[in-house]
Amino acid sequence: MAIKSLPFTQHQIESICATHPTPFHLYDEDGIRSVCRRLNAAFSWAPTYKNFFAVKATPNPHLLKIIKEEGMGADCSSIAELILSEKTGMDGAYIMFTSNETPANEYKKAIELGAFINLDDITHIPFLEKEFGHLPELLCFRYNPGPLRGGNAIIGTPEEAKYGFTREQLFEGYRLAKEKGVKRFGLHTMLASNELNPEYFVETGRMLFELVVEISKEVGIKFEFVNLGGGIGVAYRPEQTPVDLERVGAGIREQYEKIITPAGLAPLNIFTENGRVILGPNGYLVTRALHEKHIYRDYIGLDACMANLMRPALYGAYHHITVVGKENQPLDHTYDVVGSLCENNDKFAVQRALPKIEAGDLLVIHDAGAHGHAMGFNYNGKLRSAELLLQHDGSVKQIRRAETLDDLFATLDFTTL
Ligand SMILES: *Cc1c(COP(=O)(O)O)cnc(C)c1O
Repeated sequence: MAIKSLPFTQHQIESICATHPTPFHLYDEDGIRSVCRRLNAAFSWAPTYKNFFAVKATPNPHLLKIIKEEGMGADCSSIAELILSEKTGMDGAYIMFTSNETPANEYKKAIELGAFINLDDITHIPFLEKEFGHLPELLCFRYNPGPLRGGNAIIGTPEEAKYGFTREQLFEGYRLAKEKGVKRFGLHTMLASNELNPEYFVETGRMLFELVVEISKEVGIKFEFVNLGGGIGVAYRPEQTPVDLERVGAGIREQYEKIITPAGLAPLNIFTENGRVILGPNGYLVTRALHEKHIYRDYIGLDACMANLMRPALYGAYHHITVVGKENQPLDHTYDVVGSLCENNDKFAVQRALPKIEAGDLLVIHDAGAHGHAMGFNYNGKLRSAELLLQHDGSVKQIRRAETLDDLFATLDFTTL
């Protein structure tokens, strides 16, 4: 079993809590930079490698800035995500627009920013032409292999997924785009989510490289890049092994040298869109036990709820919990650790073995940095928490304040009652 450690001491977190009320999300700058550097190193063999961080995982410009400093860009699928990336100082070369069911005004913003436009469907070729009178100079298409490829639990099987072009549509789409004057081309896919097997990504590389060879030959175009999407998983459970990023990079390199180089199609740039693996393990939800309750089961009630992290309630996802200061005590109590929503699935852990917890104890919920704060909501009038950044020098910076009741009521007009 791997030890799930914390990047701060008990003294440090208690002193942070003295000035920042719980609950809050705390992100670890050093940890974020370290994953970025490992990912960049794993693909340093590629002519150009760029990871476009999937903004939806953790849409905070202060975190995007760190990611940009590490040479990465942003993968956006909405106008809000485009604006966040723009405000972070990213230009088009740093923005991948991988959207679906996209309204014209969002394409307009992406085109104005000079972003890479990644189409989800063949009908968006005439849609763009009709809206803007011409096509962008560069287009990328998203491939859905359907029954040719198995999926995984979170994203579902490709055949049932709403995303992408069929294989036949890809050939037709590139032909059409070429006819209509598009000069630069990319090919994208996004198949797995939270996948821990490095060979899955190597197989995705092989699949895209073979398609590049086929399409280049048949349609007579030259590809500038393939975009392998995201989906590198997080070892949420202590007994799971984090993805060997170096193996992913080396395995894809082998496929590149076997397929792309001999076909004379090098240099082909390699892009990815990983979000979760970068922020997930480097964000912590810090919360305090408010109550303990003993009925048919034993409950610990927290000041955080599913509005701060909904993955356990949404997918039954496991998130490790550390009781601060009790790391070495025996796990001799079994609790349901719950929030305050009037929804019985508002539970961070069900029948979890933990040390004895008392009201006032600080609990840290691990791996909450991706799809944590981002999925927050206001049901039951719950307010979203602050986000804090633990910086390299050990200091803490608030990078988003907590919501207030005024924020919650801002869209209501009480004067017209
Ligand atoms: C969510 C998403 C990603 C990122 O997935 P991670 O699991 O965060 O790596 C990348 N591309 C697209 C199109 C997505 O929807």
